[in-house]
Amino acid sequence: MANHYCCPCCGQPTYPVAPENALAYICPVCYWENDLFVHTDDEPSDENRQLTLNQARENYREFGISDPRLLENLRR
Ligand SMILES: [Zn+2]
Repeated sequence: MANHYCCPCCGQPTYPVAPENALAYICPVCYWENDLFVHTDDEPSDENRQLTLNQARENYREFGISDPRLLENLRR
């Protein structure tokens, strides 16, 4: 389990490769989908239903998931 990289959203070491090489990787902890096409933390991410990384981090702190809208799908 060595050499894991930290998720840009939740900060957990869930990435098997560096985030800049993890195209469309979805973090198993916070469900943030790695978006290589946003360049700042305030840029809406198409991969994440227009959430910004900053919003996703806030959601993770509050709800334990990057996008609480996903909870409804996961409960099924
Ligand atoms: Zn994460």
